[in-house]
Amino acid sequence: MSTTNNNNNTTTTTTTSSDSGDNCCFVEEKPKQQPKQQQHKQKPKQQQTKEKQPISKQGGGKSEFNFVNPAVVNMPQDAKYVDSHVHIDQILIREKLTLEDFTSFQKAKFPPQFERCVQVCCDPVSLDYTDFLVKFDPIYAAYGVHPHNASQYNDDIENKLVERMKHPKTVAWGEMGLDYFYTKSPRDKQMSAFASQLKKAVECKKPLVIHSREAEQDTLDLLTIHVPKDWKIHIHCFTSNPDFAQKLLAHFSNLYIGFTGCITFKNSESIRASVQAVPIERMLLETDGPYMTPEPFRGQTAHSGHIPQVANMIAQVKQLSLEQVLKQCRINTTNVYGI
Ligand SMILES: [Zn+2]
Repeated sequence: MSTTNNNNNTTTTTTTSSDSGDNCCFVEEKPKQQPKQQQHKQKPKQQQTKEKQPISKQGGGKSEFNFVNPAVVNMPQDAKYVDSHVHIDQILIREKLTLEDFTSFQKAKFPPQFERCVQVCCDPVSLDYTDFLVKFDPIYAAYGVHPHNASQYNDDIENKLVERMKHPKTVAWGEMGLDYFYTKSPRDKQMSAFASQLKKAVECKKPLVIHSREAEQDTLDLLTIHVPKDWKIHIHCFTSNPDFAQKLLAHFSNLYIGFTGCITFKNSESIRASVQAVPIERMLLETDGPYMTPEPFRGQTAHSGHIPQVANMIAQVKQLSLEQVLKQCRINTTNVYGI
């Protein structure tokens, strides 16, 4: 986090981006950094092999891409969807808009099937932005501290999060978790901030939004220690392998796995293998906008209007109709978030 000198003007373009978007997975920006190998020299060998293709070629093998990624997906007229994980404040910042512009942005960019979204605040400096955004009807909120910001986690921030949990439109605690790919906060800080948040979220009786990257075993261990088996959990922006997905699903009976636009990337075979492995009854649709922009829009800002592209790829991979995917994921969203 580089730009924490934030003012409190929550409703203007002076909203402070948590720098160029390093709050989340933002794997699509990673390839641009690949030539700078020295950036990751310090990483252990086993991670180096993976990080060249962080979300794609863990399975190796040649690419046989038989899927279509249309710019306009033919959506069922009466379908409704929820973008279960998005950072609206970050999207508006990237688009050089103010928070008040949400409704006009929605009208211009989202299809009529868009119903609601979960605005995820994962950065202490963005608390106020999310407080403001929930004033819009379709926007619900989750609040937490991302593993990148784990070093900043303290009692004061925890109290602020606990306070937010009381708001009627707060549907979850998160995103929180572990990120050993970027390791922007040291691992021990990440683990302690994650454990503290898990305990508090359970105390507050809130569903969990989990970020896990290159940290499968520790994620599983901490969840298993601190969270009851029937707790409502959203593993967001899943980029790992089917084995990890199956372990999570087997242990936690109300755990759901969220897939984003990265499943549309040509070289994301291993993530599509996870899509294949996860039952549709345990899946959530999300964009993680402004990150993870799906094909054929890569290079643009991801937003909740891109859910059709994500759902369309899931339908192709699982050989289901788009209608089935949308309908089941809508039910799943209610199961986890109550919306
Ligand atoms: Zn996110």
